[in-house]
Amino acid sequence: MKPVDLRSDTITQPTAAMRAAMAAAPLGDDVFGDDPSVNALQEKIAGLLGFEAALFVPTGTQSKICGVLSHCQRGDEYIVGQMQHCYRWEGGGAAVFGSVQPQPLNHQPDGSLALADIEAAIKPDDPHFARSRLLALENTLGGQVLPLAYLEQATALARSRGLATHLDGARLFNAAVAQAAQSGRDARGEARRIARNFDSVSVCFSKGLGAPVGSALCGSKELIARARRIRKMAGGAMRQSGLLAAAASYALDHHIDRLAEDHALARRLADGLAGIPGLQVEPPQTNILFVDLVGPARERSAALIPYLAQQGVLATGLYRLRFVTHLDVDAAGVDRAAAAIRSFFAA
Ligand SMILES: *Cc1c(COP(=O)(O)O)cnc(C)c1O
Repeated sequence: MKPVDLRSDTITQPTAAMRAAMAAAPLGDDVFGDDPSVNALQEKIAGLLGFEAALFVPTGTQSKICGVLSHCQRGDEYIVGQMQHCYRWEGGGAAVFGSVQPQPLNHQPDGSLALADIEAAIKPDDPHFARSRLLALENTLGGQVLPLAYLEQATALARSRGLATHLDGARLFNAAVAQAAQSGRDARGEARRIARNFDSVSVCFSKGLGAPVGSALCGSKELIARARRIRKMAGGAMRQSGLLAAAASYALDHHIDRLAEDHALARRLADGLAGIPGLQVEPPQTNILFVDLVGPARERSAALIPYLAQQGVLATGLYRLRFVTHLDVDAAGVDRAAAAIRSFFAA
């Protein structure tokens, strides 16, 4: 039987319809700017999120390098959360490639950075200090949705102090769909409401949206022109990349609203794990479920992931397990995962 793969929403395979869209895509050479499928995708995502322009890049990591380096010069700094991808999980890329120093801050329990902490981290114009230039937030952060009112306040604070703002929206559409479920409004509108607070936004097509490869950076024409230069230096200017852009376009047309199904599956898994002694289940807001092992259960943690793998259930973590739902899991798979975890702790 095919394993139930809950390691990440990056593992999805393109669907038959997505592959057909890729095969049918008209192609050019994007370095010459004449790949119609890349141009169409860039216009689509920029329009959807309310920006002038967008740039298609191979990875989320590269979209951030392009974003941070387009906002910042050598000796500038960006204010960022300790757990954010562009600080913690990208090999220090902004510092390595851009000589841009991060100023990391601790998160509040809801994933936000306290306004007072942001304020206190912004340095005065003094030769002792790096120049505070950019505030970078992430939404969703570990599956948590940052409240809209908070995004408005944090970015207004940054702007009032002359900082630019960037959103790592790798899972922006998960946030938008969760918000739409609360507000009763449309998910695309919610995505725009989130994005309009920022000077630039990056989104991943290769996560919950289900495309095989690709991210986009959105911003003003001027910012995207600078980002294009950085993408070239980073080796990310591709040729017949319309093949990939077509998959991303297909995902934007067909895979946004269905993220609600992934969110429902994460809740189903959380419900399936309720009441197992030693497991502390964090109620999921979107498609990522964290489960902490507490008490005596911690002593068995090293054996759990290998046991689950034997049972055909893939996940990550040690004392804090992470389960991610996506296009390629269904209710039966989630139930199998819950049953396997239950049987481990029953033994
Ligand atoms: C996955 C992810 C990225 C990086 O994307 P890659 O395509 O793996 O480089 C960036 N930010 C966040 C929040 C992510 O989850």
